[in-house]
Amino acid sequence: MNYDVIIIGGGPSGLMAAVASASNGSKVLLVDKGTKLGKKLAISGGGRCNVTNRLPIDEIIKHIPGNGRFLYSAFTIFNNESIIKFFEGLGIQLKEEDHGRMFPTTDKAQSVVDAMLKKIRELGVEIRTNTAVKQVIYDNQNVKGIKVGGEEIIKSKAVIIAVGGKSVPHTGSTGDGYAWAKAAGHTITELYPTEVPITSKEPFIKEKTLQGLSLRDVGLSVLKPNGKPIITHRMDMIFTHFGISGPAVLRCSQFVVKALKKSKENTVTMEIDLMPDQNQEEIFQEAVQILKSEPKKAIKNALKGWIPERYLHFLLEQAGIDLNTVYDQLSHRLLRYFAGLIKGFRLKVNGTLSIEKAFVTGGGVSTKEIEPKTMRSKIINGLYFCGEILDIHGYTGGYNITSAFVTGHLAGTNAANEQ
Ligand SMILES: Cc1cc2nc3c(=O)[nH]c(=O)nc-3n(C[C@H](O)[C@H](O)[C@H](O)COP(=O)(O)OP(=O)(O)OC[C@H]3O[C@@H](n4cnc5c(N)ncnc54)[C@H](O)[C@@H]3O)c2cc1C
Repeated sequence: MNYDVIIIGGGPSGLMAAVASASNGSKVLLVDKGTKLGKKLAISGGGRCNVTNRLPIDEIIKHIPGNGRFLYSAFTIFNNESIIKFFEGLGIQLKEEDHGRMFPTTDKAQSVVDAMLKKIRELGVEIRTNTAVKQVIYDNQNVKGIKVGGEEIIKSKAVIIAVGGKSVPHTGSTGDGYAWAKAAGHTITELYPTEVPITSKEPFIKEKTLQGLSLRDVGLSVLKPNGKPIITHRMDMIFTHFGISGPAVLRCSQFVVKALKKSKENTVTMEIDLMPDQNQEEIFQEAVQILKSEPKKAIKNALKGWIPERYLHFLLEQAGIDLNTVYDQLSHRLLRYFAGLIKGFRLKVNGTLSIEKAFVTGGGVSTKEIEPKTMRSKIINGLYFCGEILDIHGYTGGYNITSAFVTGHLAGTNAANEQ
């Protein structure tokens, strides 16, 4: 059987590519090795599916630190607003939440997956699940088709590789596509975990002193060896049994990975600013005011409610202040030091959880070898890439899914026109 377009992978990029190709009148085959399509999409955004983000394009690009700029021309053709219209056209109503994040009003990711599958079936796309692609076949710089299990060869003049990265492999993304891209002559930039929890061997982490403690709206920074920040993210974070996690940590993680590569000691310093809206002197003055109003009360009780209790005790201990000290016994020098810790508590981190445990894979098929307006390979005729297999990665918050839908739409539309 011959097809106009074969799409390998039924994640968001492959599903969108299937819609685009079939809408252009192509005979499309969508192949996935899993039993179900859109498995990762169905667990994204905490199971609610963060379909896209409504921030302006420039902001979206900024939130895709891994080659977001490559998407500028793609966004002139299909962008976040196009995604919103697309889903509204499928009868999926969306709502905007904090930071521009768009979710289905059902709060159910599966409703998004189901609507796409319904559309694909209406368009007559042939779907083969439980079918692992073994190889993409090339001949004289042209794509010829694919080989699936049992040595079956399926021919097509256009193949779209949409198999995702290497993260969370139980969803089907096991990194199969990199070998096919390499065989085509493409460069695979170094793969690394992004949007991933960070590990630390600090004694207080090993001893689980703060395990389970969440800090709200902190400024979390990754520092250069000279103490200047490489990046700061203001969001929530949580202490775990192995290190730190939570939104601010996930966003900082790729900068830790890169800084660790340069580090001679195999550690990187991070800094937690508990009160990012105040400077150290203002924090000190506020502490003085609170303590002065109750000069006979133990500091651990007087400052309770001002900062989270477990963190308060921890920082007081770090500052060498007895928890039962009263204001009259406390030197301003020590109190200033304590205010300094509130403003910037530093910890050394030594790595991240594995790429398999990361939300997103950094690195991938080099964007330099892909046409930015079509997602067509510059090396092999008829070959297209879309989604996370590309060397494009964003923060969680709908940015990766936006990239997958946009690159999927372009790949599908242009593969349909392949001669
Ligand atoms: C828990 C979690 C939460 C996330 N939350 C967000 C979020 O809130 N916002 C955001 O922007 N991003 C989020 N992401 C990331 C986002 O889901 C991915 O970037 C996105 O799904 C990538 O889409 P894709 O189409 O490239 O690949 P995938 O979704 O990984 O799909 C790839 C498909 O290819 C198939 N496949 C693989 N190999 C083969 C083969 N050899 N033969 C046939 N088929 C194959 C797989 O079975 C799979 O169905 C999250 C990820 C995870 C794991």
